[in-house]
Amino acid sequence: MPDVLIIGGNVMVYPRVEVDLNKLKHNVNVLVHLCKEKQIEVAGVTKVFCGNPQIAKAYVEGGVSYLADSRIENLIKLKDLNLPKMLIRIPMLSEVDKVVEYADVKTIFTNPLHPYTQGLLGSIPDINRQVDKFETIEGLVPSLYNLPKGCRFSTRCKYAFENCTKNQPKLVDNNGHKVACFKYSPLVDQDA
Ligand code: SF4
Repeated sequence: MPDVLIIGGNVMVYPRVEVDLNKLKHNVNVLVHLCKEKQIEVAGVTKVFCGNPQIAKAYVEGGVSYLADSRIENLIKLKDLNLPKMLIRIPMLSEVDKVVEYADVKTIFTNPLHPYTQGLLGSIPDINRQVDKFETIEGLVPSLYNLPKGCRFSTRCKYAFENCTKNQPKLVDNNGHKVACFKYSPLVDQDA
């Protein structure tokens, strides 16, 4: 029995889209393996289905390395899927406080600075390598309605120190590579 997701409400609503999640997962998996042969990693773009978590989960089970969207709201909907998320456009000024790291794509993947970016990139499974245990980020993702005071990652960050639980780090420029973390700006961001 195919696992079908219906988008568009009940039968009285027209048009509607039926998504066969098993076929989607299969197709994503085929694409991911074709790309792997050329050392290309695949990001699953979730904008077209407004960040629907069930469809995004099919992407993840199909083997994509990242989830990507041009809307932060859609990426937030997918926070429970443990893959790095990419915002595929420049953030607006009003969204800057939600951005923790900003650099060109190559720099992010070869030299991530933010501890959470490092943790997420370290947790991506490598299908070419047999491992006994994957890297994980310790702790539970906090509720968006009850984020910790100070840095929102302070309850899960192995580098957290006293300042992190009191003040919220701002995005600061490190030679073009912007990061919001007190590891890189311990004195600049003390605003309490
Ligand atoms: S500001 Fe502190 S808690 Fe937040 S990511 Fe940096 S070191 Fe970790």
